[in-house]
Amino acid sequence: TLTPNSWQSSDVALKVPQGCFSILTWPLCLVMEPTVVSTSTEAPDEFDRNAPRICGVCGDKATGFHFNAMTCEGCKGFFRRSMKRKAAFTCPFNGSCTITKDNRRHCQACRLKRCVDIGMMKEFILTDEEVQRKKDLIQRRKDEEAQREADREARRPRLTDEQSHVITTLVEAHHKTFDDSYSDFCRFRPPVRDGPVTRSASRAASLHSLSDASSDSFSHSPESLDAKMNFNNLLMMYQEQGSSPDSSEEEASSYSMLPHLADLVSYSIQKVIGFSKMIPGFRYLTAEDQIALLKSSAIEVIMLRSNQSFNLEDMSWSCGAPDFKYQISDVTKAGHTLELLEPLVKFQVGLKKLNLHEEEHVLLMAICLLSPDRPGVQDHARIEALQDRLSETLQAYIRLHHPGGRLLYAKMIQKLADLRSLNEEHSKQYRSLSFQPEHSMQLTPLVLEVFGSEVS
Ligand SMILES: [Zn+2]
Ligand SMILES: [Zn+2]
Repeated sequence: TLTPNSWQSSDVALKVPQGCFSILTWPLCLVMEPTVVSTSTEAPDEFDRNAPRICGVCGDKATGFHFNAMTCEGCKGFFRRSMKRKAAFTCPFNGSCTITKDNRRHCQACRLKRCVDIGMMKEFILTDEEVQRKKDLIQRRKDEEAQREADREARRPRLTDEQSHVITTLVEAHHKTFDDSYSDFCRFRPPVRDGPVTRSASRAASLHSLSDASSDSFSHSPESLDAKMNFNNLLMMYQEQGSSPDSSEEEASSYSMLPHLADLVSYSIQKVIGFSKMIPGFRYLTAEDQIALLKSSAIEVIMLRSNQSFNLEDMSWSCGAPDFKYQISDVTKAGHTLELLEPLVKFQVGLKKLNLHEEEHVLLMAICLLSPDRPGVQDHARIEALQDRLSETLQAYIRLHHPGGRLLYAKMIQKLADLRSLNEEHSKQYRSLSFQPEHSMQLTPLVLEVFGSEVS
């Protein structure tokens, strides 16, 4: 059969390849080896790249191997026509014309003789039937490729109408329940930051000036060593402080930010309830299940939604007016400790860095709300089905619309796991706060109801 080696002798254009070419067998190669389908075979790359490609018949610029010899297009056509017509030419001269590019039309006899001399073979010319077969084969390949492309297209993940509807609904629900201007915040009891400075507040504040000092490196890479050291410093300072025996008594009277933040949390709970009512399927759950889901997930959804105002540059939640810019130290002045705030800030940084699309952000909140494994849930299967539908929508959305989001879904699910432990720590701290009447009286009825431990 034809192999590149056949062509690799030095007088390549003049040599007839070894072996017998049967007109009956060689067309099989057409089917078996696509590279041989064309009768005009390009010379293999590896041999004599720089050798001039000259027509062995007339010396014109050659275009490749035609019928077994390197020739120009003109001599290729001449040979084919001559063979098909079974033409018999006679030399008008003495039978030994030198064929050149310019005179090649003058003597067909000597041109054809030259063709045969350099190895051109009529067996390499396709019959009409073979030409048709070759065309059919090429067409069949094209059709197959088109079919494969159509199959690939059909397998591409796409959003169903229902999934698109879910996303649109959730984005709308979020817009209706999250006010970018934070204009309602001025109706809360006002923030008080200059009250009696407690140890933990002052330490948190000093931690803040620390992070301010390194804010340059922070903004470049929030997960730099600097940032981690700050967290560790914070944590250590807190632990030192927490271990001092007289601190708790001193703390007790000084939660100056508690009224404002209690109102903020209460307001956020209302908004989370509004959002959840608009999650497709949520309203059809029993009232008991709706309450069970909300009670256990409200704080997680609040942490998720607060990421929208979280600011990587100074690790604060910035909600419009300077008064509504919340630092870690502000939250400690509402009775929470760094045991919650340190992982919470880490969580906010990590979530922010996922650069979620709004569609992904709202889906994550809905998935969080519809977790079937919450305490007190009755219709486990129904909630799981709703959550599965949301998860599938999220995965399809990421595949389709989030370039480079191959690992994003897994990272988002990890954030849900992080939220569980934040929730646990929050409950712990809320419980100890609410056991102190002078603090629990600052909370709102909604906060008391939602975060309260009694199962309804
Ligand atoms: Zn030629
Ligand atoms: Zn001649």
